[in-house]
Amino acid sequence: MKLNFREFFMQKMTILFRPDDVEMTAKDFLSTYASYMREVGIVGKDPSGKTIYPSRTAPVDDKYTQFFEQWVALTNALSIDSSVGMDFYTDGWFARDPKYQSVSQKGTALTHQICPNREEFWQYGAEIVKELGAYPIDEILVFGTGYVREEFCFCDRCRKEFAPMVDQEPKRLVYDYIADNPEYLAKWHVWRTDKVMQGLRYLQDAARDVSEATHRSKPLRIAVEVLIDPESGLSEGGSKKYGYDYAKIGEITGNVLINLFPWSPTLPRRGTKEYNDLVESLYFTTEFKRRGGRASLFRWGVRTLEQFQEIKALGKDAGIDRFVVSFHYPADYSTRRESAIGNY
Ligand SMILES: [Zn+2]
Repeated sequence: MKLNFREFFMQKMTILFRPDDVEMTAKDFLSTYASYMREVGIVGKDPSGKTIYPSRTAPVDDKYTQFFEQWVALTNALSIDSSVGMDFYTDGWFARDPKYQSVSQKGTALTHQICPNREEFWQYGAEIVKELGAYPIDEILVFGTGYVREEFCFCDRCRKEFAPMVDQEPKRLVYDYIADNPEYLAKWHVWRTDKVMQGLRYLQDAARDVSEATHRSKPLRIAVEVLIDPESGLSEGGSKKYGYDYAKIGEITGNVLINLFPWSPTLPRRGTKEYNDLVESLYFTTEFKRRGGRASLFRWGVRTLEQFQEIKALGKDAGIDRFVVSFHYPADYSTRRESAIGNY
């Protein structure tokens, strides 16, 4: 299906493009559509772990490096707010290395998702932020910011660190042992959330450093993707399962990107209980914004005007007025969904 970009831009949504969406040079595309755009996004590092910009740190898919550089230079010249997508723990290149993999309690290693308990990986992410921040962009949208699910991670490092906190031997640590004791379970949540927040601090510090080094008029923003899905208990369940602390995200980056129903095919209809539950679950953004934070709604695989309008209507009910969409689902979507809500 040929997409009508102009129609989409008229909806005042930020589209996070992949270069292969565009099918022409960045220059031709932006000169055709610039007058309809206030904001636009481009993927910088995707779940393969490769970048489309010429990174010195990460592996590079060099098919689109010229496209990327032309894109960010032109959006800047045309005064269009520019964001770049960056996958963080969802990194298929690093996740081939057993040292970094997230591991289930049964010992199944995931080859698409990094264990968030990795200071070296936070440093790696910080390097990517600095590289991206050297371009004249306004914001980095960080995807894959948390744990795979509640029952992760049981890699050697996580076992070794957490087991003594609950009087267990690292080798014998299993999720049921933790979950059966409310005190242990609370510790599990706090400990994991702390790791996720520490990782975000590294990224935010890098953004601050690069903002100072490049003498920007506005500091580089870091938007943190949070997954909000009924399968994982909307915002409250998600905070425990993935390791989010919305108030802390507010303190650290002040910018949250709510990935709506990533594991569920359709958004609930207005007027249903599911819809009201979702709206209620987004109340945390009110407090978040009161403290000066920015909240945006995001969804994968949006390809029709009706889907755009559905998200806008939800935003109206939830008091959120910034929208970002991607035409695609991530390339590793089915694996990711299976590991998040399946039976790993
Ligand atoms: Zn781990």
